[in-house]
Amino acid sequence: MTDLPRWMQHLGERAAAPDFHRWREMVTAAGGCTHPIRLVGSSSTVDTTTGEVLATYDTADEPTGYLLTACGNRRASRCESCARVYADDTFHLIRSGLAGGRDVPESVAAHPRVFATFTAPSFGPVHSRSLSRDGRTRPCHPRDNGPTCLSRHQEDDPKLGQAIDPDTYDYAGAVLWNHHAAELWHVFTVYLRRQLAEHLAVPRSKLNDHLRAEYAKVAEYQSRGLVHFHAVVRLDGPNGPAEHPPFGITADDLTSAITTAARSATVALPGRTLRWGKQLDIRPITTDAGWTDKRVARYIAKYATKGAEAAGTVNRPLRNIQHLDRIRGLTPHARRMIEACWAESTHYPRLRDWAHMLGYGGHFSTKSRRYSTTLTTIRRDRADHRATQARDSAGLPPLPDHTDRFGTWQVIGTGYKTTAEETWAEHIREQRRAG
Ligand SMILES: [Zn+2]
Ligand SMILES: [Zn+2]
Repeated sequence: MTDLPRWMQHLGERAAAPDFHRWREMVTAAGGCTHPIRLVGSSSTVDTTTGEVLATYDTADEPTGYLLTACGNRRASRCESCARVYADDTFHLIRSGLAGGRDVPESVAAHPRVFATFTAPSFGPVHSRSLSRDGRTRPCHPRDNGPTCLSRHQEDDPKLGQAIDPDTYDYAGAVLWNHHAAELWHVFTVYLRRQLAEHLAVPRSKLNDHLRAEYAKVAEYQSRGLVHFHAVVRLDGPNGPAEHPPFGITADDLTSAITTAARSATVALPGRTLRWGKQLDIRPITTDAGWTDKRVARYIAKYATKGAEAAGTVNRPLRNIQHLDRIRGLTPHARRMIEACWAESTHYPRLRDWAHMLGYGGHFSTKSRRYSTTLTTIRRDRADHRATQARDSAGLPPLPDHTDRFGTWQVIGTGYKTTAEETWAEHIREQRRAG
């Protein structure tokens, strides 16, 4: 036995430990999370009508002495398994707002709704790739005025998205745009309501008595380091998704209201005015072909698990910019944007906090309150479902509906304790992936 490799011996030792069975159960329940959180503490479930304690739990009774829970990180680059759960939840959240389900009636599918992409303007020509009609790569020739490069870039060319002429590229403009993108979105939503009120010929202040515009959106980083928003916009009656908006208002009307609102939305800064890029893509959401509710939900769910990594930047806040050249994977373009964040932070101090995000400090996915359910509700439902299953398999009766749980918890650590545990967790992840 002693001639087994060391790591194999460690794997065997971990599996032979008395807490292994329970430990593996916890890792499985956490979906094989890469950086799980170790907790100690206790909780009790109380009947809210009688005050009776129905169940108690204490990590001191666990063979491991602690409880493992998933890290819950949404980003696939951080934790693949938690990101998959996040994407699934986002898919259901978006889909229920389009096709019904989870407290949203199916009649919502008949409401005017569109899928719109809001882009950033150009801050100078960047290396780009496009295909001719017969599938050949065209020479790099951005539509912007200015320098061209004429190379035929491969799909994975790291130059794609980088400025052709860094000396004339407006890096300050680019990071200021990212920094104010969430504000520009807000201005857009105000203008959209204005347009809709005009269309219905009602005063703006009375729009809510006739119609509501609900949305869900996600941010996407392009390789040029600028943020795009992909948004679902839906019209409801005054009482929310259960009510149809005023008769006669169509997806076409919504499209033209969005177009006008997006074209006129601006954020004025000293010395420059920020607006959306010329490219505004609006498509009706259908139930059969093209951009169906499923396809739109899948698309949004995919971007919800991404960060700024596509833009070649770093994944953590920066305390200074002295050693940017030592950071592996940082592209020259992203580096210039980070430096621009630092330079502009004299006027916009928060730009330093978001330099690693190339200026953008907004949320990756947001939605209006009445779009559909919330991620919190979806998660709670899943936790309740699991708890019910666990009680069932333990032969315990289901808990009544009117219960509350009280607990005190303390984080004692994150990640796995040994390489052997990491290897076992990886194995559990692979088994899950295989279905
Ligand atoms: Zn995780
Ligand atoms: Zn080029």
